[in-house]
Amino acid sequence: MELFDGRILPADIVIVGIGATPNTAWLAGSTLALRDGVLCDDGCVTALPQVVAVGDVARVGGTRAEHWTSATEQPRVAGANLLAGGSSQSVRSVPYFWSDQYGARIQFAGRRREGDTVRITEGGLTDGAPAEGGLLALYEREGRTTAVLAVDRPRPFMRVRRELSLESRVESAAL
Ligand SMILES: Cc1cc2nc3c(=O)[nH]c(=O)nc-3n(C[C@H](O)[C@H](O)[C@H](O)COP(=O)(O)OP(=O)(O)OC[C@H]3O[C@@H](n4cnc5c(N)ncnc54)[C@H](O)[C@@H]3O)c2cc1C
Repeated sequence: MELFDGRILPADIVIVGIGATPNTAWLAGSTLALRDGVLCDDGCVTALPQVVAVGDVARVGGTRAEHWTSATEQPRVAGANLLAGGSSQSVRSVPYFWSDQYGARIQFAGRRREGDTVRITEGGLTDGAPAEGGLLALYEREGRTTAVLAVDRPRPFMRVRRELSLESRVESAAL
């Protein structure tokens, strides 16, 4: 494979990661705080209360979740906070994305962190790929589930996603 700068790298498979850098150059020098996206509080409100950011470009409450779900859920909260003149509502949802790839539905929810263990609780792997019928995998840390991955297992996935959302709400209420 030949790179733009002329380097040639040997490769059997090439995975292209595109569209992952937030385009914030036009905001450089403005009052908005930028760090891998536009920094916002939990309610999508930036350093300027009359400016909100949502979707891929927004780092909301410390997380930039580049998924369609963020781009469709965050505007509701951002709009409410604009009308309220400050952060009266927070984005509480657990990050979630789905994708259909080569006939398989892939779903992921939660906040996986480095060092989490991965446990396949349904289905399995065949030669390193999801077996016929898919799989459900739980990411765990200190005995707690931090995230869930499913391939063609929508029902059990939604159950774990609901549990993660519930836990997240309880934790937010306790803060
Ligand atoms: C290849 C690829 C595959 C993906 N697959 C999935 C998937 O399977 N599932 C999933 O959940 N998510 C997926 N995503 C992520 C998903 O597409 C994004 O999270 C979502 O589109 C973000 O929406 P957005 O409105 O925040 O940003 P965008 O959809 O990027 O829209 C931003 C718009 O703003 C415009 N813009 C930028 N700068 C300026 C400016 N200065 N002035 C005016 N306009 C400007 C851009 O041209 C663009 O039209 C994928 C992304 C990519 C790149």
